[in-house]
Amino acid sequence: MPTVEGMNLAGKTGSALVIGGGIAGLLSARVLSEHYADVVVLDRDSTPGPGVRRRGVPQSFHLHQMLPRGEQILEQLFPDFLDDVLRLGAFPLNGAALNWTNRFGTMAMHPPGKAAFYSRGLVEQAIRERVQAIPTVHFGYDQQVVELCATADLTRITGVRVRHSGAAESTTMTADLVVDASGRSSKLPQWLSVLGYAAPPDELVTSGIGYTTRYYRVPPGQDDAVPLIVVENDYTAANPAGGVLKRIEGDVWSACLSGIGGQYPPTDAEGFDHGLTKLISPALAEALRDAEPLTAPRGFRIPVCVRHHYEQMERWPAGLLVLGDALSTVDPIYGQGMTVAAIQAETIAATLRDHDGPGFEQAVLQRIQRASYPAWWLSSLEDLRWPGVEHSGGTAFEGVALLHKYFDLALERMTQQFAHRGADFDPTFLSYFAMTGLLVPPGEVINAGMLDALLSGPSTAAEQAVRAEIRAHGGSIDALLDCLVSAGS
Ligand SMILES: Cc1cc2nc3c(=O)[nH]c(=O)nc-3n(C[C@H](O)[C@H](O)[C@H](O)COP(=O)(O)OP(=O)(O)OC[C@H]3O[C@@H](n4cnc5c(N)ncnc54)[C@H](O)[C@@H]3O)c2cc1C
Repeated sequence: MPTVEGMNLAGKTGSALVIGGGIAGLLSARVLSEHYADVVVLDRDSTPGPGVRRRGVPQSFHLHQMLPRGEQILEQLFPDFLDDVLRLGAFPLNGAALNWTNRFGTMAMHPPGKAAFYSRGLVEQAIRERVQAIPTVHFGYDQQVVELCATADLTRITGVRVRHSGAAESTTMTADLVVDASGRSSKLPQWLSVLGYAAPPDELVTSGIGYTTRYYRVPPGQDDAVPLIVVENDYTAANPAGGVLKRIEGDVWSACLSGIGGQYPPTDAEGFDHGLTKLISPALAEALRDAEPLTAPRGFRIPVCVRHHYEQMERWPAGLLVLGDALSTVDPIYGQGMTVAAIQAETIAATLRDHDGPGFEQAVLQRIQRASYPAWWLSSLEDLRWPGVEHSGGTAFEGVALLHKYFDLALERMTQQFAHRGADFDPTFLSYFAMTGLLVPPGEVINAGMLDALLSGPSTAAEQAVRAEIRAHGGSIDALLDCLVSAGS
């Protein structure tokens, strides 16, 4: 049996079938191939061409950014992954400064080490090529999974029914493990219901997110133009829209406007141009002033973010797992989705290593919910700043008002640190950045030591707001901080 990138594929038994060849499906195929002799990935889309935006993944038109934690996992699963994306044409950052504006100021950030920017299509292609190189993983395109197959007593999933594109009849494919990675259009709740399994109510956040994306050609001679401009959504501004401009492969800028709380950005060219000028920083409009548009603007709306709670089901069929957007969808504005899929695939791998036997599937579901909860918690908390956004189902969020003020102060202190780089630069506040990059848990930011550091800086409105919360809690919030951080971990 050949060895791929240090993976030992010998001595495996059994088969796994993955529904969906997106990021979650590809990464789970990678980790399953270390434990199963045969892994099949089925996708309803046709065989993808290089870097294309696929029909089955409509969000791939829109600006995607992988968070630092996701890039770390990709490098672990696929050594020298960055070299792959560069070979496919990703834009090398070469130490360029990234420009990030929030309501407290503008940061010029220099990502440490080698880094690159790329589109969603390119990163998916790079992952797919690596997974295709694993000899025990096979792909079936134009294959739509239409239902799950189970044993007569319905306690174990034995495979799926698949319809080939254009065919009237479906056929059966068997597997020891079926993994649903079919994304936000997953039919798992219906499939489970047909088999007599009732899922608990979903946890919902009525985020009302709108995206509009448009592509531009980078004007010739602008090789040193800033490759990333982020203007954060500001719920305190007259125009709360946010915007991002990111350089990707092929001398192209991908630009997007976003809104939360039902404030959807315009999708026509004139409205898009106007929207760029209304952001809290003129940086995007200025950068794009002379750039040639390559596409019309295109919109995407997500009224509700959903977290299914399959891990709470008393009965769960053996031989079935679910991950990625099929399990939960977070607000894409925080760039977490692909990283969450990577964290979940990593968690499946860890569980496969140390948990064998009955109950394995429920153990995986519980662990991946725990591992991806910080992302859901952070994204939901941020969205709850917007009027009209509500959370229901699941465990109620504690201390939302305090957390908003605490995070405001942490963001303000970090922004100040970037503005005054020099001898007095205090790296403590970088933990806020590490937390939003999912590199460290919220406890690294929400703790008594950090609170002291946050309060010891210059007095500002954000700092006064946190002090007022402390007074309201009788002078000490240490216990409350402990409780809040355990809620988010
Ligand atoms: C507008 C927008 C912007 C985003 N921006 C970011 C970002 O900046 N950073 C980030 O990390 N994430 C972002 N995301 C989220 C990200 O796209 C997903 O979280 C991530 O790609 C994981 O998706 P997935 O693999 O679970 O599903 P998908 O990528 O949607 O893949 C699902 C796959 O399953 C296939 N499929 C579906 N049903 C069937 C079936 N019945 N049979 C066979 N195949 C099937 C589909 O064809 C598809 O290939 C964004 C999302 C949106 C909507």
